[in-house]
Amino acid sequence: MISPILPTYARADLSFETGEGAWLTSTDGTRYLDFGGGIAVASLGYAHPHLVEALTQQGRKIWHTSNLFKIPAGERLAQRLVDATFADTVFFTNSGAEAMECAIKMARKYQSASGHPDKYRIITFEGAFHGRTLATIAAGGQQKYLDGFGPKVDGFDQVPFGDHEALKAAIGPQTGAILIEPIQGEGGIRPVPSQCLRGLRALCDEHGLLLIFDEVQTGVGRTGKFFAGELSGVTPDIMAVAKGIGGGFPLGACLATEEAAKGMTAGTHGTTYGGNPLAMAVGNAVLDVVLADGFLDHVEQMGLLLKQRLAEVQDRHPDIVELVRGEGLMLGVKLRVNNGDFAVAARAEHLLVIPAGDNVVRLLPPLVITEADALEAVSRLDATCARMEKDLKHGAKA
Ligand SMILES: *Cc1c(COP(=O)(O)O)cnc(C)c1O
Repeated sequence: MISPILPTYARADLSFETGEGAWLTSTDGTRYLDFGGGIAVASLGYAHPHLVEALTQQGRKIWHTSNLFKIPAGERLAQRLVDATFADTVFFTNSGAEAMECAIKMARKYQSASGHPDKYRIITFEGAFHGRTLATIAAGGQQKYLDGFGPKVDGFDQVPFGDHEALKAAIGPQTGAILIEPIQGEGGIRPVPSQCLRGLRALCDEHGLLLIFDEVQTGVGRTGKFFAGELSGVTPDIMAVAKGIGGGFPLGACLATEEAAKGMTAGTHGTTYGGNPLAMAVGNAVLDVVLADGFLDHVEQMGLLLKQRLAEVQDRHPDIVELVRGEGLMLGVKLRVNNGDFAVAARAEHLLVIPAGDNVVRLLPPLVITEADALEAVSRLDATCARMEKDLKHGAKA
């Protein structure tokens, strides 16, 4: 019999009642160290006092008015994003996929408004993930997400990751934009080298294409920069943001330059909930913390500490860990054993990590982790590796 919840997830038999910082407490009272962060969402950890205060204060005032009226907290949040990035304008959404939908529509509209309605095609990369709507599964191009859902939405041309020649060959008369995650998240924490991003920017400028960054997972401090594009100094024309910007409240945003947004006039796009007063209050509170002096330095330091210590874990367990990669607190551990099994074994050590593509487990802890949290995670990862080694030996005997 089907479960009352549509069974699209194979869920762990575990649920949580409370959380504080990077720690979650399950319904049976066990504490877990959360290095998944609800998939890079709980950027400020659980029950952050400043976020709780912002949400409850706004909750007593007004939750929703619709976008038929001005929302001052939204204007403020948009201005702050504009001030801190390449962008001139922002559209708020409730999720990453919706932010991506806005980005895709905006790129097409830009080309159309520039007299090139035929330039609707967007180049994307193998291993990408951009969401689960019909257009974003077409953009991501992963067969397992496309299967059975009818004709793939037209307009996306996928090229192999890191193949500059294939990319150049894929640019045709109908190409209007290139879409990329500066570091692939679901694909297995695969960073795009800086020189490749600079090459993409140059190609876009040469061919009149828009460069779209999907920073849904990499953004808002995750990599130690406000946005990951800053690591290479490359600015996009359009950028999708979500996950960390809401700190757990559903919030996304599509940022753009004035030029890229020139087709998006009144009536061309919309959302009922996007940018509602509750989301805006929380988004502003997240930025209060992330943009405060020293916060991003803390993320960078914790990232460096973890990377160093993870290299030692790799040295101690070469049969389990193949390599460690990533930036800031977006780290991937590529394994020689099954990544799903590893995540289950980590859970037995009361550590949460998240499997991704390329046989990687992702570490996406709250950005507020302490040094003690980082070292505790490393010790639990060591213990997890030891468990897996035991399994390997038993497997060898059997
Ligand atoms: C999670 C994610 C999305 C989709 O976000 P949703 O909020 O699940 O719709 C899109 N792009 C990237 C890079 C993501 O990590």
